[in-house]
Amino acid sequence: MKFKVKIFVILLIDLIFSIFAAYNFILIKEKPMLPFFNSLKGIVFDENTGIYNKGDKIISIDNIKFQDREEIEFYTDTKSIGDNLLVTYSHNSEILTKNIKLIDFYSFSYLIVIFIIGLSFFATGIFVLLKNQELVFAYIFHWLTLGVSGMIFLTWGKIQTDYLIPNFILRTFFDVCLILTPITFLHFSLLFPKVKFENILNKFDYIYLIFFLYWFVVFIYNFQLFLSMNSPKAIIAFREYNMMHTYHSKILMIPFVILVVMNYIHSYLISKEEDEKRKLKWIFLGILTGPLIYTFIYSYPRITGKPLISEELMLIMLVISPITFVIAITKYRIIDINFLVKKGLVYSLIIIIFSLLYVFLLTLVGEIFEPILDDYSFFGVNPSYLLISIFAIIIFQPLKSKVQEYIDRKFFRSKYNYNKVLSNFSNKIKELQIETSIVDLIINSINQVIPTVSHLILWRNSQNQVLSSQNFSLNIVDLEKIDRFIENTSCKPIYSKPYLIEEGIRFELLTPEIQNLGVELILNSFSDIDKPKLTFVFGKKKAETKFSFEDIELLNTILHTSAVSIYKTKLQTELILEQAEKEKLKELNETKSFFVSSVSHELKTPLTAIKLYAEVLNSNPNLNENKKNEYLSIIEGECDRLDRLVNNVLGFSKIEKGTKIYNFEFIDLKNLLSNVINTFKYQLNFHNFKLFFDYETTANYTIEADEDALKEVFINIISNSIKYSFNEKEIKILLQTEPEFIVVSFEDKGIGISSKDIGNIFTPFFRSKEKNVSSLGGAGLGLAIVKNIIDAHKGSINVESKIGNGTKFIIKLPVKNEK
Ligand code: ADP
Repeated sequence: MKFKVKIFVILLIDLIFSIFAAYNFILIKEKPMLPFFNSLKGIVFDENTGIYNKGDKIISIDNIKFQDREEIEFYTDTKSIGDNLLVTYSHNSEILTKNIKLIDFYSFSYLIVIFIIGLSFFATGIFVLLKNQELVFAYIFHWLTLGVSGMIFLTWGKIQTDYLIPNFILRTFFDVCLILTPITFLHFSLLFPKVKFENILNKFDYIYLIFFLYWFVVFIYNFQLFLSMNSPKAIIAFREYNMMHTYHSKILMIPFVILVVMNYIHSYLISKEEDEKRKLKWIFLGILTGPLIYTFIYSYPRITGKPLISEELMLIMLVISPITFVIAITKYRIIDINFLVKKGLVYSLIIIIFSLLYVFLLTLVGEIFEPILDDYSFFGVNPSYLLISIFAIIIFQPLKSKVQEYIDRKFFRSKYNYNKVLSNFSNKIKELQIETSIVDLIINSINQVIPTVSHLILWRNSQNQVLSSQNFSLNIVDLEKIDRFIENTSCKPIYSKPYLIEEGIRFELLTPEIQNLGVELILNSFSDIDKPKLTFVFGKKKAETKFSFEDIELLNTILHTSAVSIYKTKLQTELILEQAEKEKLKELNETKSFFVSSVSHELKTPLTAIKLYAEVLNSNPNLNENKKNEYLSIIEGECDRLDRLVNNVLGFSKIEKGTKIYNFEFIDLKNLLSNVINTFKYQLNFHNFKLFFDYETTANYTIEADEDALKEVFINIISNSIKYSFNEKEIKILLQTEPEFIVVSFEDKGIGISSKDIGNIFTPFFRSKEKNVSSLGGAGLGLAIVKNIIDAHKGSINVESKIGNGTKFIIKLPVKNEK
């Protein structure tokens, strides 16, 4: 209730103010002046000398002599628009007298501009006050805007001595406004956006008191001046009054504006809240277009010379100021100030570039065509100007709008066809079955319409799979942070920084920890556990605008559509992998049973033979020595065969497990080979094999190698040759030296290996499917072990073979082998 009364009183003051403002409007409208007073309509008027036409000097008006411009104005104010004055002036040392009619001091358009701007400040103050009745700054802001509005509305009208009292009250009001504005401005800057320097704020009542006293002195002084304006000394009083006015309106303002600006810069530097910074940016814009322009560009330069911009332009700029303040106070989140400033800068740059281009072309065309076309000028105008204008219309206008359009699209993406982008996306994604192409499409579509500085596309299943990342340097821990954050907040669809998204869209706030990673927006596909979990993470939007409804909707549609698509491709890949796994398992099973059967066969054959010959030996004690020895040799040979098999199986399992250890030492390869051949003596004899072992007697065959391992190699190769030779039974072993290498080759004249099989013989468990091979025993491990051992020795093994033509294995071993 208390507030209501207070508001009522304030509004009453506002009403009285409006009545005075309206009254002043009449005085402004009636104010007359000499036609050349403001150097109008081609008449040159020098403000310092009062010259009418260069070189002319006003001597008297209505036979009264005047000292300066103000005196003339003071005199004309006693006349009315349309009255004739007798102006005597010197022209080229001639004295002339002319009857000159007084015209309007203020043009009609000027009055309208004043009205609009004054009203905008006036209304702004009331608006803010009514919206924030319980906040102190709203009251101060109201007085501030009322003051500014007074400075505009109560501008000098006709100083008619007939209406002395009302005119005096008007001027008093004006003075109050001039004094009130700077002080309330400073006061406001300490209250909004945040209360600061409270000890100074507490003393503001005293400051107001001082200003009131000061004003009171001014008031008394003015009153006395006004009284004398009716006397013969009127002009002196007026001049004094005018000086006072100049002081208040132009000089008093400056220190306060500087103080306020400094205060706001300080606030900005210490401010940590995004919100506050935004408000301050709006305020800066307001100060720039309002007080700064008014004091430093317009008012202050006027004291010493001409203002830097015209009064009209200053007034028009002034209209921006109350708007930005209202935005700072109430709607600072609606329009993105960063975007506004950035776009403004880019646009200004374009205009400057085009202006320069235009000037350049203008000079160029002028230089070329002006002399040529000089003879064809009509109405005194050279046709080259016409050419330039046509040129400008044809080229510049469309070019400028094209450039602007391009910039809008490229940098700000202010307009995009939501439906077009979406239908394009949906059409294309249907055709895509590969994950990477889907991801490419997502990135392209997003970049086309809502480009961001950085993005991350995450597939959050058991681990975080990054499908695409740009300008985000996140490690696994960071990704886990994001993932955990989303999971802990039960997977909301939208997470955002504050004020990044248009109002009205519901979202979860990002924690500072996540924001510190450069994340500004997260969009999530589904919250269900078994559903696909595609997540888009974005950094800043390049355009610096907020994410609009359309943006979010578009991104969400892209997200959900692609989540399903990626999910599908993932399922497909999983299915294929599963199938491959199954096949591999089947193959492994087959191999296993094949291995078991062949090993048992391999075991059984020698065992049967051993058992048979042992029985024969046992049941025939009278066998002759030769036979006995032969049978015992057979048993020994079969035992060797068993031994080889068991060795191979054990060796292979060691290789498989990676536990095979090599023992490198210097050995004589020739001796080793001789020993191995010796162990085959019985078998070779038994099968009537011819074996040739060739080597150079003088050569040195010492090599650094694992003796047992190489033994295994040679045993496997020789036993294969024995096994796979049916008709021609001949084995040639050749030992050769090369610099740093020893080469051993084994050549048989056996069944050979088909070109189809030759590539597989070193694969574990591989056995040729040829009938004559498969009928023989074998586990398919021998050559696999051979290959592995040769590799471990950093050597090489090659096969040359043709089916039916025998086989040659060439083994190359380095002489030296590091341990
Ligand atoms: P296994 O001899 O037990 O089948 P290996 O790994 O020793 O297994 O040999 C793999 C395959 O290479 C053999 O099944 C055979 O088809 C072929 N092979 C190996 N050595 C010879 C050779 N000297 N002559 C013909 N074929 C051979």
